[in-house]
Amino acid sequence: SKAKLFDEKTDTRTSFKDVAGLEGAKEEVQEIVEFLKNPDKYTSLGGKIPKGALLVGPPGTGKTLLAKAVAGEAKVPFFSLSGSDFVEMFVGVGASRVRDLFKQAKDKSPAIIFIDEIDAIGRARGKNNFTGSNDERENTLNQLLTEMDGFGTNTNVIVLAATNRADVLDKALMRAGRFDRQIYVDLPDLNERKQIFEVHLRPIKTAETLDLDFLAKQTPGFSGADIANVCNEAALIAARKEKKAVTKQDFLDAVDRIVGGLEKKNKIIT
Ligand code: ATP
Repeated sequence: SKAKLFDEKTDTRTSFKDVAGLEGAKEEVQEIVEFLKNPDKYTSLGGKIPKGALLVGPPGTGKTLLAKAVAGEAKVPFFSLSGSDFVEMFVGVGASRVRDLFKQAKDKSPAIIFIDEIDAIGRARGKNNFTGSNDERENTLNQLLTEMDGFGTNTNVIVLAATNRADVLDKALMRAGRFDRQIYVDLPDLNERKQIFEVHLRPIKTAETLDLDFLAKQTPGFSGADIANVCNEAALIAARKEKKAVTKQDFLDAVDRIVGGLEKKNKIIT
């Protein structure tokens, strides 16, 4: 079956509490939450609410999570699609999907639209790409720009887009009135990794009180997604051994396993 292009849910479950660390990014998106909650307050003096912001950072650092949390905090619907869904699409479909998506969001506004991997559609025009479906991609990109330009001052739809390659994006996307704000979502430092462990240890039945500092020190370079993976893997390792609760050693084994996986992945890339 075709990839699901967008799903809409009034996602009030994801909140800023689920996003560990990323204090700077959270502060910046807090403003967007305020705009969505009180649009009239901000437009009353003639100001225009921003239409879009770009979340920039490495894979697995919580960009999608943060976008969902914005929708959750503002209690508005969350519409999403992924740029990579367009890669295998038939001619003419990309643009109409974008049109549909914006129509749905406008009908339910205030709302958040989230476009993951925007580089798949937003790569600079005229540059060579691998797929050969350049026209289709350009049509999709043009439709996206048209939709954003067509927002009235009271549309109350904010588009968040994620990328780990802001450098390859078409400059037209970053023009004023489009994705004119960039928010950096970096890999977590030691302290942030501790906080991410704390979040992902919540559902885990542990045999002992785990030293978060120790776990964070074992995981340099790990993203939030990697840490979530460690916690899950540790629980599965312990269960496989018929244990009643997860031990520190299970976490260490999980870290080893994830490090192994990351090394393999890097080998393929380089
Ligand atoms: P990609 O660029 O690969 O799409 P992303 O930056 O959008 O990645 P998410 O999909 O948001 O990353 O993160 C994947 C999962 O990793 C989240 O659902 C969450 O479980 C965990 N995670 C990532 N970052 C954090 C964080 N800062 N706090 C808590 N959990 C996190």
